[in-house]
Amino acid sequence: MPAARGFTTDEHVQVAVISGPTAVGKGTVVAALSRLHPELVVSRSVTTRPPRPGERDGVEYDFVDDPTFDELVAADGLLEWATVHNTHRYGTPRRPVEEAVAAGRTVVLEIDLQGARQVRTSYPQARQVFLAPPSWQELVRRLVGRGTETPEQQERRLRTARVELASADEFDAVVVNDTVPGTVDALVTLLGL
Ligand code: 5GP
Repeated sequence: MPAARGFTTDEHVQVAVISGPTAVGKGTVVAALSRLHPELVVSRSVTTRPPRPGERDGVEYDFVDDPTFDELVAADGLLEWATVHNTHRYGTPRRPVEEAVAAGRTVVLEIDLQGARQVRTSYPQARQVFLAPPSWQELVRRLVGRGTETPEQQERRLRTARVELASADEFDAVVVNDTVPGTVDALVTLLGL
């Protein structure tokens, strides 16, 4: 059982934030959690980042251009948004989250640290979980191993990761993502699923 400050598992969780540094495995863990608990609503973000090979618009993300993102921000259509790794913008569409919460569902947001901080203001009752790597060396190995970033992009992401790791204490709980099943188990407990 991971450290879980301030958690009670008997209350319904409306919004769960899963955050953590680059390449820690947030996407893999959230996908496995959602397979196990299909009743969860996993929020789909909008991003100005171009799709990676194999990514599809409307599946992993809604891929949008800068003017479209500007319009979403201006219309207050995003619950939170951030420029991640000093490059592209990512945001959580507000309406699907509000609708799912109103319908009594649990919404999962897989977002970066800046976004997690904003959600702390807009949804103070959100349950905030930080996924940490087993070690710095393992984080580097996972980032380099997935081979989706250039060496410069890897450098930039690792710089951000150092800062992000230092903020784990802001979260309600920290789960070390050693193995996917172990992490999913911990999340099931923390989210009272
Ligand atoms: P990637 O480019 O690898 O898909 O994602 C880069 C980072 O952006 C990850 O840390 C991911 O959690 C974060 N991210 C994805 N969607 C959102 C979002 O809607 N808001 C924020 N703040 N961060 C996001």
